[in-house]
Amino acid sequence: MDLETLVAFLVDNAGPWISEQRERHLETSGSLPDTTRAALRGYFEPETLDRARIGSASLIENPPFYSQFEAAGQAIPLDFSVWAGITFGDVILLSDTGESGPMPHSVVFHEMVHLVQYGILGIAEFAHRYVTSLAWNRFQYMTIPLEMTAFDLQDRFERSDGRPFPAEAEIRRRLDVAPTPPQS
Ligand SMILES: [Zn+2]
Repeated sequence: MDLETLVAFLVDNAGPWISEQRERHLETSGSLPDTTRAALRGYFEPETLDRARIGSASLIENPPFYSQFEAAGQAIPLDFSVWAGITFGDVILLSDTGESGPMPHSVVFHEMVHLVQYGILGIAEFAHRYVTSLAWNRFQYMTIPLEMTAFDLQDRFERSDGRPFPAEAEIRRRLDVAPTPPQS
């Protein structure tokens, strides 16, 4: 697959997969636990914390359409099975490591950034921006603007020591800049 075909294939398949996963995990998800809400208060608006849903799975599964990459002997774009969490619209899914203990606030914070991005962009536009920037940057996941915002703010959250900053305003500001193809 050339790059253009690959981007088109991913754009066509990613959005529907995200919507399906959202539907599937919505049933077994619930509101954020009180301890999580308390840890994230002030960073996110109360309505955003209210509408977030969270659940867990023993493993984050890779999309069925990855079989096409495997059949073609190509590497898959991203291996979700090693991820700690993923967000499908307003549904956060955490990988259940089997360890008991408090829910890692930092991981939930990162996923909440994506939840806000989905809320502004919608699933189709989020998927479009995510996969085009992923493919344009040769599958360097850390260069995806949606991820750079999430990792930057997650880092700020970890260093904030419980003193909130308005994360949502920052997420909105950064979304104003749509990704552009690399200059060659
Ligand atoms: Zn992320």
